[in-house]
Amino acid sequence: MAPSSSDTQCLSLSNIELVDLFQRSRSSPQSLLSHKYPNETLIYHGYIGCAPMYPTVAISLRTLAAYRQIHRTCPRFSIQAQCKALCFLHDIPYRPYLCMQFSAAYDIYLEIAHIVDKRLRAALNHDTPNWRLLNSCPACFYKLQDEPTLEFDWLVSIDGNNSLKRWDSAIYGTTARMDSRKARSDYWIGPTAVDQFKGEVKAQGDSSLDDWGDEPIKTNPGSLTCVSRWRNAGPETRKKMFSVFHESGIFIAACRHRFVLLACDMIQSGELAKYPLALIDKLLTVYGKNGACAYDIGCAFSKTLTNSSLGPRALDLNFRMMVGAFHGHAHNRKCQLVWHPTYILGTGHSEGEGCEHIFSASNELARSTRHASPFHRHQTIEEHFAFWDADKYAVLCA
Ligand SMILES: [Zn+2]
Ligand SMILES: [Zn+2]
Repeated sequence: MAPSSSDTQCLSLSNIELVDLFQRSRSSPQSLLSHKYPNETLIYHGYIGCAPMYPTVAISLRTLAAYRQIHRTCPRFSIQAQCKALCFLHDIPYRPYLCMQFSAAYDIYLEIAHIVDKRLRAALNHDTPNWRLLNSCPACFYKLQDEPTLEFDWLVSIDGNNSLKRWDSAIYGTTARMDSRKARSDYWIGPTAVDQFKGEVKAQGDSSLDDWGDEPIKTNPGSLTCVSRWRNAGPETRKKMFSVFHESGIFIAACRHRFVLLACDMIQSGELAKYPLALIDKLLTVYGKNGACAYDIGCAFSKTLTNSSLGPRALDLNFRMMVGAFHGHAHNRKCQLVWHPTYILGTGHSEGEGCEHIFSASNELARSTRHASPFHRHQTIEEHFAFWDADKYAVLCA
C-alpha cells in the first residue's frame, strides 16, 4: 500500500546501518524532495535497503555488483560465503539472518539490472520474438549473403542433468511459502509446454517407463539394440530417489559452440521423452529446416520422435538425430555406423557433447540451489547461463 504524505515523513532514514565491502557505518542519509520512499534515497546514495519500507540495514551497490560478478565466475561462491567474508572484514560474528538480508537486497539489485536490460533491448530492437535464440550465437545463426550452404543449417545437442535437483519442502512436513515471482529469462520452456508431450509415449502402449526407457521395446534375441543396453537401474529404485525432490534436474539444448539455447525443469521424474520433445518442438519452430541434434540416446530417441506428434514435422523439415561422440563410442558398432558424428557428413569437429561441457560448470551451482526456493533456483541458473553465454560470446573473436 502506498503511504500517505504524512506517512512519508515517518519514512525518513535515521541511523541506518550501511554495509560496503570495506566499510560498515551508521548514517542518516539525506533525502531529496523528489524522494517518496526510503529506498529512493538509499539508491541515490549508492545503497539498496534490505526491506522495502522500513530498512534498518542497506548494502552498497558496488558490494552487490562485486558479489554478482564473483558468483558468475565462481558458481560455488554463495551468498553465505559472501556474508561470512563481510563479517570477517567488519569484525562481527556471522549470523544466518545476514544471508536473508543480503539476499533481499540482491534480489532487488538483479530486478533493477533486469529492467535496465529490458529497456536497452527495446531501444535496440532486440525484443522481437525469439531474438536471443536467433542471435545468441553469431557463428551458428548469422548468415552471410551467398554463404555456401552447409550440410546442416543448425546443429545442437540436448541432454538432461540431475545435479540441479531441488529438495521438496513438503518432505519436512512444512508448506512452502508463497512466492509469485517467476523466472525472468526466455531460456525456460515451462511445465505446461513440456506436458503437451506427456502422453505421447505411453499412448503407444509402453507402460514400463523409466528415465532411459520410454521407447517401446521390441527386441529380437541376438539383434543389436541400444535401447535395452542403456536401460539402467530399475524404475522403482529410481522413483524412490526422486520422490524427495520436486525438480529432479534440468534438460537443456545448446548450439555446437555451447551457447545455451533452451532449458526446462525435469519435475518429479527421470529423463522422460517429453523433455527432449518439448525442446525439439521449440527448436524446429524457431530454426526450421535442415537441423540436427545430438543426444546420448539419439539412436533410440529417433524412433520415439518419429512416433510422436512431432514426427511428421521433423521429417518434413529434414531433421536428423545423432549420438554424441563420447557416448557414441559406448554404443555398438552397428549403431555407430548410423548415428555417430564420425560417420555423419557435415558434423566437422563438433562432437555433439556440448551439454556435458555446460553441466561440468553448472554442477557447481548444486549446493546453492538444492534447498533454495523455486524462484531463487531459477534465478541462480539463469544468471549462470547468461554469464556462460556472455563468456562464450567474448571468446568467439579470440
Ligand atoms: Zn545406439
Ligand atoms: Zn553456435
